[in-house]
Amino acid sequence: MKREFFTVVYNREVARQTYEMVMQGDTSDITAPGQFINIRLKDLYLRRPISISSYKDGELTIIYKIQGIGTKNMSELPSGEVLDILVSSGNGFDVSKAHGKVAVVGGGCGVAPMYGVAEALVREQGITPTVLPFA
Ligand SMILES: Cc1cc2nc3c(=O)[nH]c(=O)nc-3n(C[C@H](O)[C@H](O)[C@H](O)COP(=O)(O)OP(=O)(O)OC[C@H]3O[C@@H](n4cnc5c(N)ncnc54)[C@H](O)[C@@H]3O)c2cc1C
Repeated sequence: MKREFFTVVYNREVARQTYEMVMQGDTSDITAPGQFINIRLKDLYLRRPISISSYKDGELTIIYKIQGIGTKNMSELPSGEVLDILVSSGNGFDVSKAHGKVAVVGGGCGVAPMYGVAEALVREQGITPTVLPFA
């Protein structure tokens, strides 16, 4: 886990109370889809954990829903804002042993990291998974 500074590229509402934020910064510590980041937010003592939805060299995307003060604060962050982030926590998902037919299942905000898992399955294993989101 490493402390890094990321710059917001954009932050937009993609569904009711749900936002997609794309940020640029050093992503070299991310080792697997499904890991999460911890974001420091103004005037809040505790960082807020949010899963990495997808990532590539120098860029990561999160999908989050407004639940309270921290995520409301996040939803108002403009492009160009610099964020203090701990990258990257959690083990993530190991897709290297996946074979045959694969289903990716997630519910609520748990679908956010499933995007990155599906991307890794296609990129690393040549598997196009069946994605089953549920409410
Ligand atoms: C490892 C991890 C990964 C996560 N990934 C995502 C993600 O990709 N997208 C996303 O939208 N959210 C994700 N979350 C949940 C997110 O961290 C919380 O919604 C966020 O911290 C709430 O902060 P807040 O300041 O907006 O809410 P607060 O003001 O702190 O809380 C508002 C209300 O929501 C309740 N609450 C807060 N967090 C949770 C929770 N995790 N579960 C149930 N009730 C809660 C509080 O008890 C309170 O009643 C993740 C959580 C963890 C632990």
